[in-house]
Amino acid sequence: MSQNNRNPFTIAQAQFDEAAETLGLEPAMRELLRWPRREYKFTIPVKMDDGSTEIFHGYRVQYNDARGPCKGGLRWHVEETMDTVRALAAWMTWKTSVVDIPLGGGKGGVTCNPKNLSDGEKERLARGWMRVMARELGFDRDVPAPDVYTTPQIMAWMMDEYEVITGRSHPAVITGKPLPLGGSQGRNDATARGGVLCVGYACKRLDIDPTGTYAVQGFGNAGQFAATLHRELLGGGKLVAVSDTSGAIHCPDGIDPEAIVAHKNKTGKVLGFPGSKEIDADSLLELDVGILYPAALENVINRQNAPNIKAKIVCELANGPTTPNGDRILHEKGVHVIPDFLANAGGVTVSYFEQVQNHANYYWSLEEVHTKLDYHMSRAYDAVHEMHDEQKVHMRQAAYLVAVSRVAEAVKLRGWL
Ligand code: NAD
Repeated sequence: MSQNNRNPFTIAQAQFDEAAETLGLEPAMRELLRWPRREYKFTIPVKMDDGSTEIFHGYRVQYNDARGPCKGGLRWHVEETMDTVRALAAWMTWKTSVVDIPLGGGKGGVTCNPKNLSDGEKERLARGWMRVMARELGFDRDVPAPDVYTTPQIMAWMMDEYEVITGRSHPAVITGKPLPLGGSQGRNDATARGGVLCVGYACKRLDIDPTGTYAVQGFGNAGQFAATLHRELLGGGKLVAVSDTSGAIHCPDGIDPEAIVAHKNKTGKVLGFPGSKEIDADSLLELDVGILYPAALENVINRQNAPNIKAKIVCELANGPTTPNGDRILHEKGVHVIPDFLANAGGVTVSYFEQVQNHANYYWSLEEVHTKLDYHMSRAYDAVHEMHDEQKVHMRQAAYLVAVSRVAEAVKLRGWL
């Protein structure tokens, strides 16, 4: 596959084009929805601890706000580019639509390696990003949140900077905040919880036993919670392999999810877990497991390895883990793919709950959050599965048909076209 075909935004547009064709969208609607409405690219000077000043490159893409204010996370990553941000912003637009919450889609980030930044440098970078973007954000315009390598603490610094600039209390300007600053109960595991719930709904419909084997690729926020919640929510299951950037481990007899999370937290990596065998990181994806959770980054399932994938269900907690060629092969093999913008929509759904609670200045119990999340995720999963059955299309295409038609309807109702 050429490098261009691996460009996430080229992939996001190709996926959209396929849905637009099936829906028979008019040319102007297609052009409007295959591009971001607004983009910001800027530089952020940051005073480093050694007295030097480093210039970082920052981004924000407001992809579409027809259904409500833009919503989407901030990723701090060495390989962050405008096209990655565009793709993630497009997927956010379809994600908020598929779970039917009154928000649009956006995304942002900074090209940097957070592992090389001190806490002081991270704080100055967070505040610097907010100083550039503050005028373009707001609960009624665009609301950022955490993504890869950004944390509740970074959200707290950004909210504080926004409030210093505006001179008002504005907790709903950003979500994923720490609990004492207006965060929501249940936000930390919401992405994984939503994905695991979807696996449960899929297993029921497809008559698959959820208590068989499962593997998790990527062992950060989403991956670690998927490992523990799978057993908790689905009544059992044997975790047999996990991976992170250090490598992958395999235990055919099963890995205790809590123990591997504790090992990762203590040592910073999954390798070296007692009783495990190190395997090639890529081969984790091809293990003979019932359920596979890709929870790292883009393009890991592709034309080369898709023919070897043995899982019955692939639950895409990561954004864009499967290339279009990989997708086609999985579909032909009969693998049930729960597509990224449905599988990982639990995070944005609880972010939306956080905004609602901030507006009301009244906070819900954890049980209330869990019940409401289950309600939104099950309605979204059912809508997509029914589209998949009715239109005889694969699950990603079905999710696009549901999501894109809702955004197109909002565009029409607003009279933009
Ligand atoms: P994170 O930074 O907490 O974790 C990422 C993990 O992936 C790390 O453990 C890292 O070591 C691992 N990793 C990176 N490259 C890898 C590779 N090649 N092989 C194996 N492991 C690798 O990030 P996260 O918040 O868990 O996000 C993971 C994915 O889920 C991303 O695609 C993100 O966009 C998506 N997502 C996260 C959330 C959320 O709320 N956290 C919400 C929606 C989507």
